[in-house]
Amino acid sequence: MSIASIKAQLAQYGLTPNKALGQNFLTDDAAAEEIAASCKGAVIEIGPGMGALTEKLLNRQEQVAAVEIDRRMADILRDRFGERLMLIEGDVLKADIKDIADSLGGDVSIAGNLPYYITSPICIRLITCGADIRSMTLMMQKEAAERFFAKPGDRVYGPLTVLAQYYYDVSTLLKLSREAYYPQPEVDSVVITLARRNAEPHPELHRLLESAFAMRRKTLSNNLKAAGISDARLNEICEKVGIAANIRAEKLTPAQFAAIAGEIEAHGK
Ligand code: SAM
Repeated sequence: MSIASIKAQLAQYGLTPNKALGQNFLTDDAAAEEIAASCKGAVIEIGPGMGALTEKLLNRQEQVAAVEIDRRMADILRDRFGERLMLIEGDVLKADIKDIADSLGGDVSIAGNLPYYITSPICIRLITCGADIRSMTLMMQKEAAERFFAKPGDRVYGPLTVLAQYYYDVSTLLKLSREAYYPQPEVDSVVITLARRNAEPHPELHRLLESAFAMRRKTLSNNLKAAGISDARLNEICEKVGIAANIRAEKLTPAQFAAIAGEIEAHGK
């Protein structure tokens, strides 16, 4: 949507962008087109706003669902797209993404210009919700994207990095300056894509990561002890996986975390 049409829509509905909800509307039509083109099959959009990306998705896909928290935006979306859009009004952090994906037949793509204030929680939720998600194309602030590409030992390496890199191949699709939005945010953005890898699912991985990174300065063994794993069991797991128990969690690779999670799933804590 052009800046002019965004302003006209806002004026028509008597609205102003809600900063607290991270409302920076996309004004770059070519970027919206490219994001839509990267999605295959049914799509779930996160935070559709006034529909800049939704429109492009609906032009290409049979089934598009969207989760939007702002009731005022939901009114605009209903007026613009009617029944064509499966609109879920509510908080994406509380929505049952698996249920939505299942209702679309599974094997869905996710797309969204994410609200910056909850980018990481949304991504963790999408990765761990158990839905059949083949790919995600996500627009976010440049700094937030660094987590997805971090290497063991990097300052921003953490649970989101491990979950994303273990389950998905992560790459950059687009870089956008702050001028591509109305109102303009303070930083530039990127669009990243996550393409599902053929990785064995580990239901314990997320919990393990939360414990392992609880205190970044502590060793893996101290963090996991605090999470109820005994010394003896920890030594056994570390020996099996081939790592030292006194290593810091931030030094382990996604594959090593997955191996520890697999051990816990198979033989308990
Ligand atoms: N997709 C639109 C675009 O690109 O122009 C709007 C993107 S704007 C960066 C983020 C959108 O997410 C807003 O519409 C905002 O209301 C919505 N949003 C914010 N928090 C949300 C939440 N917890 N659950 C669902 N949507 C949310």
